[in-house]
Amino acid sequence: MSAVIRRPCLLILGSGFAAFGLLKRIDLRTYDVTVVSRRNHFLYTPLLASTAVGTVEFRTIIEPVRRSRPGARFLLGDAEAIDVDRRVVCCRSLEGDLAWEQPYDLLAVGVGAEGSTFGIPGVREHACCLKELADARVIRERVVAALERVALPGLDEAERRRMLHFVAVGAGPTGVRFAAELHDLLVTDLPRSYPDLVGLVRVTLLEAGPKMLSGYDAALRDYAAREFHRDGIAVRTDCAVSEVVPTGLRLQSGEQVPAGLVLWAAGFAPTRFVAGLPFARDRAGRLITDDHLRLPGQKEIFALGDCARPEGGELPQLAQVAEQQGNYLGKVLNRRRASRDSGPFVSKNVGISSCLGGGRAIVEAPGEGPKHTGAWAYQLWRSAVFTQLVSPRNKVLVPLDRLRAYVFGRDLSKF
Ligand SMILES: Cc1cc2nc3c(=O)[nH]c(=O)nc-3n(C[C@H](O)[C@H](O)[C@H](O)COP(=O)(O)OP(=O)(O)OC[C@H]3O[C@@H](n4cnc5c(N)ncnc54)[C@H](O)[C@@H]3O)c2cc1C
Repeated sequence: MSAVIRRPCLLILGSGFAAFGLLKRIDLRTYDVTVVSRRNHFLYTPLLASTAVGTVEFRTIIEPVRRSRPGARFLLGDAEAIDVDRRVVCCRSLEGDLAWEQPYDLLAVGVGAEGSTFGIPGVREHACCLKELADARVIRERVVAALERVALPGLDEAERRRMLHFVAVGAGPTGVRFAAELHDLLVTDLPRSYPDLVGLVRVTLLEAGPKMLSGYDAALRDYAAREFHRDGIAVRTDCAVSEVVPTGLRLQSGEQVPAGLVLWAAGFAPTRFVAGLPFARDRAGRLITDDHLRLPGQKEIFALGDCARPEGGELPQLAQVAEQQGNYLGKVLNRRRASRDSGPFVSKNVGISSCLGGGRAIVEAPGEGPKHTGAWAYQLWRSAVFTQLVSPRNKVLVPLDRLRAYVFGRDLSKF
């Protein structure tokens, strides 16, 4: 009688860039893989702002986890705690009514990070964030609701202007992208659908630091600032917010900024799950790992993506880093069964890019490599997006959605 060899259980927490990269690469003949995540899809965040204004449809930028890797088990839920001694993760259904313990032999924590409120009052209550599809949906509904309400007779001029003032706090890639997408919507669709409101809408980008897009080369930053100025997007640096209120926000200088919608896109914080783990974390709350992405003293637990930082290195919280770590860990684990070492994780900088709307972008190649602006950079940005989109379905749907928005306008229906 032949003995049945049990495959080690690999438990993956999360379904973002890091976890999905690992899931795609792991050898299912070697490991019995279970994924526990709060969402049953992978989300391509670089196009999230495009869905918030209807340039691209919500379902175009997601990949269902269950269908992406048949043979792996998926459980929709929240990881709440890790019991290291018993090698189980305590999980709970999203509704909160079912709790279970998920066993593991190897554990990969890829639960990402959350936006930081910096303890500023009113952010959670009154500002929108842009992290998940549900957030993009809320923003889209609020933008359309504001346009419809202002189109009604009877509102005074100050209230109309307040409601149509859209403010993004944080002039990093997310805030910039949101402002750019919103501006594209206003330029191309407002004259068609709300001709009376043209000229009333304003977009402002607020930044507490001295410059926008601080991770970029100075020449690219200046280009972005110039183009935004030309588009009428107000960029205000050195403007720290002290409170968000239902009708806008207040700056530390005491100035009141009336606004109809505030997008909070400033800073990162650990998720509640990560914040509660009994492992070493850095000042930003990220789990510290060794150069093989293992938690110190825990050979069987790995942490990757936005929720982690290899000791001694400073990696940006970017999709490319998370994805590379997922791919690396998949390779390490596949080789580990054959007792082959893969060496430490080394991040490969593939450059950064940001779309500025209006068919323009900025692209910065790694190191001293070339820097591109304008229409050519936009084509580079688009081809990078095309390459990164996972499935052939989405590679087809994204350009089709853009074409639809260009020819027929964005869908501004309220339902
Ligand atoms: C709007 C926006 C635009 C961006 N644009 C770019 C860009 O252009 N280029 C770029 O490089 N980066 C960009 N980023 C950053 C990039 O999205 C992140 O760096 C990347 O998603 C990190 O991957 P991750 O796997 O660590 O986390 P995430 O992708 O955030 O995934 C985390 C996963 O963990 C799950 N999860 C969370 N908590 C739990 C829990 N307790 N239990 C179970 N599951 C849990 C979540 O549901 C999710 O599936 C952007 C981010 C945003 C929000």
